[in-house]
Amino acid sequence: ARLYLDRIDANRDLNVFLDVRPEVTLKQAAAADALIAAGNAGPLAGIPIAHKDIFVTRDFASTAASKMLEGYMSPFDATVVEQLAAAGMVTLGKINCDEFAMGSSNENSAYGPTLNPWDKKAVPGGSSGGSSACVAARLAPVASATDTGGSIREPASFAGVTGVKPTYGRPSRWGMIAFASSLDTAGLMTATAEDAALVFNAMLGHDPKDSTSLDRPREDYTRALANPVKGLRIGVPKEFFGEGLSPDVEARVREALKQYEALGAELVEISLPVSALGIPVYYVVSSAEASSNLSRFDGVRYGHRSAKAGDLLEMYKASRSEGFGAEPKRRIMIGTYVLSHGYYDAYYIKAQQVRRLIADEFQRAFTQCDLIAGPVAPTVAFDIGAKSSDPVAMYKSDLYTVPGSLAGVPSMSLPVGFGDGGRPVGLQLIANHLDEARMLGAAHQFQ
Ligand code: GLN
Repeated sequence: ARLYLDRIDANRDLNVFLDVRPEVTLKQAAAADALIAAGNAGPLAGIPIAHKDIFVTRDFASTAASKMLEGYMSPFDATVVEQLAAAGMVTLGKINCDEFAMGSSNENSAYGPTLNPWDKKAVPGGSSGGSSACVAARLAPVASATDTGGSIREPASFAGVTGVKPTYGRPSRWGMIAFASSLDTAGLMTATAEDAALVFNAMLGHDPKDSTSLDRPREDYTRALANPVKGLRIGVPKEFFGEGLSPDVEARVREALKQYEALGAELVEISLPVSALGIPVYYVVSSAEASSNLSRFDGVRYGHRSAKAGDLLEMYKASRSEGFGAEPKRRIMIGTYVLSHGYYDAYYIKAQQVRRLIADEFQRAFTQCDLIAGPVAPTVAFDIGAKSSDPVAMYKSDLYTVPGSLAGVPSMSLPVGFGDGGRPVGLQLIANHLDEARMLGAAHQFQ
């Protein structure tokens, strides 16, 4: 832990960490050492982890990278944090992200953008850009992350690390600051799929505190790591190779698919036509849920309270105007609009119907193949500032990741090389519900 704390200190210019408390970390490390010395330790004891600042923690501030929660100390730990601590993992601190996990570049953080360690002019992706930069710069061997529409996979691709989103409902959402509750999924950034499998063993299980947590026994996510790829049917959706995909990304992804073929996999062309509508569906559904979830930040219960207000209504307005940044405000407005009387049926209900069709088309695809593979994002990491004034251009980064989110299926990014400017490229693997062990195995065989 000491080694990582020193590295974190030496790499402050990357703006990865929002809260570091060496005395807390070293105390946890000493406790893990004692367990190891007593011969009582599991495989994760003493291994450091950094948590995305969307997971609440008792010993570090929890801000969701928003001014709204500046300095907020939670009275409890998120279940994910608690489970990993119980396995002996040592918390290095809290890491940057887009405000309330809304974004694709980490530029929406109220605490400034995180830089991409491969090229400090580039974004590290988002919203889990702190997590991807953290693992890429080896400021931690593992970082937690969350994915609502691509926020684990896109930053993993941009920073050349492994990023895994499990099946919706498999990880607990308890203590994860909510963005869009029907999509929010906790996951990990690691150096390899094997590392992710080992940490998932401690992290994924039923949580009675989360009503959408799947009531299933724990599994061993390492069980398929040694399985050969031979005979695996990999579906390649033709819609993932259309307009907008940049040639350097396409070249790396096609090479990776060839490599799978060389390992004995069979490539099957599939079609996901409704998934092409993923972006509008995602931004309607996620903004609707966000507008509801963010209503709890009213200046009364927790978070920022304006000093200026006279009466209650003024206090709500001023606290929310001052506390939220531009992107959460945009989502609240979109969400409130699509849920309002007269627009609900036209937008929200329609989006829910298309969402169902997308989920159905994934189920059909998985009768033709075992895994789906394609690009994670249309481009490599872009320059800081390149898209920050154009929200719609930014939303298009999520083209290939939102369909899997809407369907609730597990999905990951694994690094497969470098594109323009020497910036990393990821390959996206998507598996059927609860088939993450097979997906991690296929990634491990590649790596
Ligand atoms: N980029 C998407 C958004 O801004 C995804 C975010 C996420 O997955 N948390 O909503």
